[in-house]
Order: sequence, then structure tokens, then C-alpha cells
Amino acid sequence: MHLPSKETLDPSNWNEIRALGHRMIDDMIDYLQGLRDKPVWQQPTAKVKKVLNRSLPQEGQPAEEIYQEFLSYILPYNKGNIHPRFFAWVQGNGTPLGMLADMLASGMNPNTTIGDHVAMYVEQQVIDWSKEMFGFPETASGLLVSGATMANLTALTTARNSLKDLQIRVKGTDDKLTVYCSSETHICVIKATEVLGIGSERTRIIPVTDTFQISVPALVAKIKEDIKAGFRPFCVVGNAGTVNTGAIDPLEEIYQICKEFGLWFHIDGAFGSLAKLTPKFADKLKTIEKADSLAFDFHKWLHVPYESACVLIRDKKLHQAAFSSVPNYLSAHERGLAAGPEPLTNYGIELSRSFKALKVWMSLKEHGIQKYGRLVQQNIDQAQYLGEKILQTPHLELLVPVSMNIVCFRFNNSQHSEEELNQLNKEILMRLHESGIAAPSYTIIQGKYAIRTNITNHRTRLEDLDLLVNTILEIATNLLIKVVEFDPNNPTHYQAFKEINYAWINKYFKVEQGDLDSLENPVKYFIATGGAVLLACRGDEILGTTALKPIGDNSLELCKMGVSQAARGLGIGHAIGDAAIKKARELGAKRLYLETNSSLSPALNLYKKLGFSRVENFISPYVRADVAMEMYL
Ligand SMILES: *Cc1c(COP(=O)(O)O)cnc(C)c1O
Repeated sequence: MHLPSKETLDPSNWNEIRALGHRMIDDMIDYLQGLRDKPVWQQPTAKVKKVLNRSLPQEGQPAEEIYQEFLSYILPYNKGNIHPRFFAWVQGNGTPLGMLADMLASGMNPNTTIGDHVAMYVEQQVIDWSKEMFGFPETASGLLVSGATMANLTALTTARNSLKDLQIRVKGTDDKLTVYCSSETHICVIKATEVLGIGSERTRIIPVTDTFQISVPALVAKIKEDIKAGFRPFCVVGNAGTVNTGAIDPLEEIYQICKEFGLWFHIDGAFGSLAKLTPKFADKLKTIEKADSLAFDFHKWLHVPYESACVLIRDKKLHQAAFSSVPNYLSAHERGLAAGPEPLTNYGIELSRSFKALKVWMSLKEHGIQKYGRLVQQNIDQAQYLGEKILQTPHLELLVPVSMNIVCFRFNNSQHSEEELNQLNKEILMRLHESGIAAPSYTIIQGKYAIRTNITNHRTRLEDLDLLVNTILEIATNLLIKVVEFDPNNPTHYQAFKEINYAWINKYFKVEQGDLDSLENPVKYFIATGGAVLLACRGDEILGTTALKPIGDNSLELCKMGVSQAARGLGIGHAIGDAAIKKARELGAKRLYLETNSSLSPALNLYKKLGFSRVENFISPYVRADVAMEMYL
């Protein structure tokens, strides 16, 4: 007889996996503790992509080796939303205990759907706490889902299926149904109506005011127009914090309209509804307590690890009626494992579900709701700080008044067309991401490309926002520098060449007659001898200059490279250095040479970065220099 094999997925050596597990925890705690000093983001390398393009493993490999691959190819290329300077989209950071809770939940690994087991009760507890948090009645129902996308879909399904006369679960959808939401509504709401067979066309997109809130008169007019035309309005989706700008729709007015026309009032409060935990927004968001349904995320402003969100439905019976179907294989018993609370499948689409309630339960217990409220407030205050800083900073333009935690702004030095500004700001953002220093995202505000800084981050400090602003200004300055050739007919060019270089020489050396002569007449000393003079400009301002001078045997000397005092440290030296090397090539030189003084170490570093190498034992008649450098072109 052939006996079944004794294979299992458990380790053959439990001590090894225990030791590896301990190391993993140590490594991850170190990683979280040291986040601030790491780049927000780094692009996955070609090697990483290659590693992740291998064929299906046929045989196993030791866990230790796999973990090494994780450390080399996966961990360093994280998205970055856990970082203190991640400001993109609306995303949460997670917490150390949340991470550990996920491990515990995976260890228990209960399929949280039916049966008399503890995960069912933990989830119920979390739903009850959520109702309390938002002032929903005790009789309301709810479900934990992956994200606000699923929460919105679940709520809208309930709203649609609540139209009893249509018997939609039996007969399919009706082609007269219409839904209403503002043009700032999250795309997942539109996707939900598409999935529900309402379609994007009958999802009436209502225009917004200049503060990005739904226009109430336009909403009422559209509802009336639709009723007149034979449509059947059934639901309005209000926003408690739009994803673009954090705007809160006039919820109380929408509620009154829903009451008047007998419509379901759903609120997408993915992140913004959590502002209800703060004193200032508690009143503004009080209407949430009267909504028919609410979608919100735990993984955004409450920083529970992904994925964790919740839908609350005021009328439990309608929630059940929208989803419950109990086939034989799921029917409940009086006792045993198959007894217990009502199956959660009666409240949503998914059958198999993870024990995501555990990380929510542990997180809420660890910090208490008061602290979450203070952290939300901290982010709102930080957004105010950033907004004010932008208003006070020349060349930065606030594009929308800060309404909650989102700050939309752009670089604008009033010297560019709208189209140029859009390109410029996009380039600034891409370079900012590549720098690894900070990661805001972007949006378009009335046709203007905006750098969108969303602060739902328990790790952000004010210094992080200062660094964000300074880095953007620095990148913008670098981007705006143009290096042009000296124009002998332009008197400002003579003036700038003389002034900038004179100030520079005078600061570090003694000015000599030869300097004065060549500064006075750069055409004669540089251009007429076959060299060149270059100027670095930002708009009409000249910020730096340099000159190239032929010195025989196919060589040019790079001399007199000055940057105006006000523009030091903005990368102008780099820009002119690059342009000078390019120009030397154009002039056919084979070697570029320069002499400088070793006490000017920033200049030396810059030349090294540009590719110059030091020449040892040089003898020079040029008494003020002690370092010679050259590069072969
Ligand atoms: C993030 C967000 C969503 C989508 O939520 P997920 O959790 O990403 O599925 C919906 N609406 C708003 C306003 C959001 O900010």
C-alpha cells in the first residue's frame, strides 16, 4: 500500500524559524525607529526588477535566504508612506504595534466570516466603537472592509437595494436611478455606481463652489430636473473631506435636501470624517450622526496598517437585506463552532475575510481616541503653518485656502506663462521625489498644476515642512538658471561680469592690475583670443559668470568663476561649470585646466564633482593659487 507522504509547510526546525522571527522583529523595529534619516522614496533599481521577474520557483529555498532577498531587494524600495515627509495622496503611516498586531492576526489566521470564534466578537467590538466615535445609533450595523472604496460600494449597494419596490437583487438594476455627488468626489464613488449598474452618466456630477464644496442650488436644481424628466433620484453622496483639497460639503444642507426628496444620504468620510474628533470640526461634522451611511478608513488618519476601513449603516435591516444569503453550507447551528454571531457575509460582498479587526482593536486600545483626536488636530495645525509659510514666501503661491489638512500650492515667480508654470511645477515635484527628501503629490486646481501636500502623518514635525519648502525653492532656482553667452553689445553683461567677479576676487584674494584689465574688457582678454564668457541668469537677473581662456596646446583655462553673494548655494556654480565644459568642447579643446586656492574648499569640491582631477607637483607662475586641476575632454 502506498502511504500518504508526511509533508507539511511547517518548519523542520522550529528554533530556526523562531530565531529568524526575532531577527525580523528587531530589524523592522530598527527600520521604523530610523525612518527619518532614510530617503522617503527610492526608485526600484534595474536589479530589483530583474530579481522580481524570475520564473515560478519549483523547489523551495531556506527562509533565511528569502529574508536576505527581502532585505536587499524589497525593504529599501518601500513606497514611503510611513515616512515623516510623505505628503502624497491621503495615506497613513502605520504604527509598530499595528505591525505586530498584523503578525498576531496572521498567526491566528481565522477566516473572519462565520462561526462562534473570538475574531467575530472583536470585529463587533470595533464596529460598536466606530458607531460611538461617529454618533451612530447603537442599532446601526457596520462591517470592516479593505478600504473606503469597498466601504462606499457597500453603502451604495445598500442604498440601491433599499428601494424595495424595484427588487433589484432579483430583477437587476433599474435604468432610471440617479445618484448625486460633487465634481470633487473620489473616483471610487463613480466606480461604485458603475459596478452597481447605475453608470457614470446617471451619476450626476454637481459643480462646486470656489471653496470646492458642492453647490447646493445646483444640486437641488438637478434633482428637480431629473424628477421632472422621469428619473428616480435615490441617493446623494456628501464629502467629509475631499481628496483633492480636504473640502467638507455643506452636510447639514444636503441632509435636509435628502429628507425633503426622500433620498439616501451617504457620506464619504474616508479620512476627513476623523476630524470630528477635534473640537473645531466636531460641530462642522455633526451631521455625520444623521447620515444613512458612512464610509471611513482606519488606515488613513488613524494609522492602522493597510488594509482597514469601515462602513456604517444606520438601518441594520436594510444592510442585511442588501447582502444576506445563507446557503446550506453556511447555515448557523445552535451550538458548536457553527453557532455564534450572525455571519458577516450578511453585510457585504466578501466571504473569506482576514482578522483585520485585531489591529484596529489593539491600536484603539493602545492610544485611546483622545490621542487620535490630538494627532488629527496636530496635522490640521501643521497645514495652517505650511499655508502661512507659503503666503509669506516670495515665489510660492497658495492655490486654495487651507481648509483642513491639505495644502495646494505652486512655485510662481510671475515670469512664466500658465503652461510653463505647469511644466515647471511638475518638474519640481519629480526632482523632489528623486531627491528622497519629501514626497507631496499633485493635483490640478482650475487648470493649474499644484503641489499638493497632504498631512495625515503622525510622524511629521514642523521642521519637515520647513525642509519641504526650502528644498522646493532650491530645486526651482536650479531649474530656472539658464547659462547664456556674453553679448558684447549688452552693457549689463559687462557690468555683471565685472561686479560679480570683482566681488568674488576681492573677497578671497588681493585684486591685481591684470584682474582689473580683464574684468574691464572681457571681449579683448577672453573672446577675441578664442575663449568665451558665460553668464548664468534667472529671468533678467545675472547670478554668476565665468570665462574660458586659450592657453595653447589644445587647452583652455577655466578662470574667474564667480557667483553673486545672494545666489550662493543654489547650484549656480554647478550650472555654469557644466556649461563651461560643454563650451570648451565646442571650441575644440582637448583639455580644460584651472588653478585655484585650496582654502576655497567648496570650490574645490565643486570642481571635483564636475570631473576635474588634481594635478600633483605643478609649477605655476600664478602666485595666488596652490592647486591645479585639469580634465581631459
Ligand atoms: C482615500 C479615499 C477614498 C478611497 O479609499 P481607499 O481606502 O483608498 O479605498 C475615497 N474617498 C476619499 C475622500 C479618500 O480620501
